[in-house]
Amino acid sequence: MSLIVQKYGGTSVGTVDRIQAVAQRVQKTVRDGHSVVVVVSAMGKTTDTLVNLAQAISPNPSRREMDMLLSTGEQVSIALLSMALQELGQAAISLTGAQVGIVTEAEHSRARILEIKPDRLKHHLDEGKVIVVAGFQGISSIDHLEITTLGRGGSDTSAVALAAALKADLCEIYTDVPGILTTDPRLVPEAQLLEEITCDEMLELASLGANVLHPRAVEIARNFGVLLVVRSSWSDAPGTRVVAPPPKPRSLVGLEITKAVDSVEFDPDQAKVALLRIPDRPGIAAKLFGEISHQRVDVDLIIQSIHEGNSNDIAFTVVKKMLTKAESVTEAIAPALREHSSNTQEAEVIVEKRVAKIAIAGAGIIGRPGIAAKMFKTLADAKINIEMISTSEVKVSCLIDEANGDLAIEALCKAFGVNQSPPTNASLFAHLPPVRGVALDLKRAQVGIRHIPDRPGMAAQIFMALADQNISVDMIIQSQRCRIIEDVPRRDIAFTIAENDIHTTRTVLEKLAVKLGLGEVVINEEVAKVSIVGSGMVGHPGVAAKFFNALAKEKINIEMIATSEIKVSCIVSQADAVRALKCIHETFGLAGKEVVNVPA
Ligand code: ASP
Ligand code: MG
Repeated sequence: MSLIVQKYGGTSVGTVDRIQAVAQRVQKTVRDGHSVVVVVSAMGKTTDTLVNLAQAISPNPSRREMDMLLSTGEQVSIALLSMALQELGQAAISLTGAQVGIVTEAEHSRARILEIKPDRLKHHLDEGKVIVVAGFQGISSIDHLEITTLGRGGSDTSAVALAAALKADLCEIYTDVPGILTTDPRLVPEAQLLEEITCDEMLELASLGANVLHPRAVEIARNFGVLLVVRSSWSDAPGTRVVAPPPKPRSLVGLEITKAVDSVEFDPDQAKVALLRIPDRPGIAAKLFGEISHQRVDVDLIIQSIHEGNSNDIAFTVVKKMLTKAESVTEAIAPALREHSSNTQEAEVIVEKRVAKIAIAGAGIIGRPGIAAKMFKTLADAKINIEMISTSEVKVSCLIDEANGDLAIEALCKAFGVNQSPPTNASLFAHLPPVRGVALDLKRAQVGIRHIPDRPGMAAQIFMALADQNISVDMIIQSQRCRIIEDVPRRDIAFTIAENDIHTTRTVLEKLAVKLGLGEVVINEEVAKVSIVGSGMVGHPGVAAKFFNALAKEKINIEMIATSEIKVSCIVSQADAVRALKCIHETFGLAGKEVVNVPA
C-alpha cells in the first residue's frame, strides 16, 4: 500500500461545497488503495482577513500574536474537512501542527521546520484513518511550546516536509490552476501547461511560480527526492510533475536546512572576454552572441551592466580552450560596432585567461538579503578582488583570479558552513529542453551606483547596508569599465530591487555614498526583468543569442544582462516588457494553440 500526501490550497477548501468535493477526492484515493495524509490551508482569503483584523488594532502587532491569530485559519479547515470525511463514512482525524509534532525554529512568522515526529501519524494511519493536518503551522520545542507559522504560502512546505518525513510515495499539491505553465497566462494566453519541470528550474522561476508552489517546498522536495505533482482540484487532469535528481542521503533532523546556502561551487576552467564601449542600442548583444554561437562556442556567464552615456560594455566567460576562438570572433565584430557608434572612443576587446568562477548556491538565497553581501565580505576579508559578479534567484557567481581559488573555496565553505560541490555536469541535462519557461517581473527597479572605488570590500559594505534594512537585491552586476578618478580606479555596480524598496534604498545608498566616496546613485523605476529558464541550456550554444536576437527584432533595448547556468535575465524598459515576454515565449516554441483555462 502506498502513502500519498495531498495538499489543498485556500480556494480548494474555500466553501462548504469545495470542502465536500475535496472529501470525495480523498475518499476516492483511499478506495484506490492508498493511505492518505491531507494538508490544508485556511479557507479562501481567511489569512488575509485575519491580517487585516490585526492591522485594524495595531499597525505593528507582535509576531507571536500574529502566529496565534493566523494559525486559527487552518484549524477551521482541518476540522471541517475531517467532519466532511466522517460524513462520507471515511474514518478521519484532524491534527494541528503541534499535535503532529511539526517542530520548528522559535522564529515567529517565518519559522523553518526542524523535525517531524512521525509516531502519532503512523499510529493513526495504521488505524486506517485519513489524517487531516493543519498546514503552515508548527510548534517550537525550545522553552514554552510556542505556536509558530512558516510564513505566507507555507502550507506547501508543511505538505512536502510531511511527505519527506513519512517517506511518502507521492506528494500532490492541489490548487486552482492546472499546474505549472510556461509563463504567466494572464499576460500570454498561449502559455502552455508543462508536463514536467525540474526542482532547480522551478526555483529559478520563483517569480513566476511562487504563488503556485512555495520555493521552500521545492527545496525540501529536491533535498529528499520527494516526487511532487501540482494539479487542479477542479479536474482529474494529471498536472505537472516537479522532479528531483536522486537525493544524497540526508538526516530528517534539521529537515529544512536553516542554512541559506547549500553548496560552494568552483570552476577553474573559465576565461573572460569583455567588449567595452559598444553602442547602447537594440541588436548589439544579438549580433555578438549570434556570431559566437555560429562558431559553436558555448558561453557561460554573460553580463551587461548599466550604460554610461550612450555606450555600454558586455562581458562573458567561456571554457579556457575556447578563449582564442571567442576572442577572434569578438575582435572581428568590434569594428562593425564601431562604425555605427557615435562614440569617439573605440570599442575595445579585453581578455583574461587566468580567471575562475566561484559560486554559492541554495534556495535559501531567495528572500534572504544578507547572503550575497556575506559572500562579498568573505572574499574581501580574504583580500580577493571580484572581477565580475552575476546573480540569479538561487545563485551568486563571482569571477576571481584563478590563483585565489583555494583560498576562496576555503573561506566560503567556512563562512557558510558547507562543503564544496563539483560544478554542474552538463551531460546530465543534455536531454532537457533548453528553455522550459519564461518569467516576467514587472515590479523591479534598477539601481546604479557610479564610480565605486575598485578595491576589495566595497561591494560587501554596500550590500550589507541594504541587507540590514531587509532589502533583497537581484542581478548584481559590476561594470567592466574602469575609470580613474582622483587617482583611484573606479567601477559602477548595478542591481535590481523590488519597487517597494526604492525609498529605503535611496536613503541607505545616499548616506553610504558620502561615507565611502561613491559617485552618483541612479534609480530607474520603469524597468522589468524578463528571464528564460531551462536546465538544457547548459552546454547548448546559442540559447542566449536567440533570446537577444528575438528582442533585437522587436527593437527592444537590453539595459542589463545577468546569467546563471540555467537562466538568462535581461532588464528592459517597462513599456517593452509584455511585448518582450510574448516574443520570447513564441521564439522558444513555448506558445500553444489551445488556451489553458485558469481562474482570473
Ligand atoms: N494560509 C496561509 C497563507 O495564506 C498558508 C497557505 O495557505 O499556504 O499564507
Ligand atoms: Mg499557496
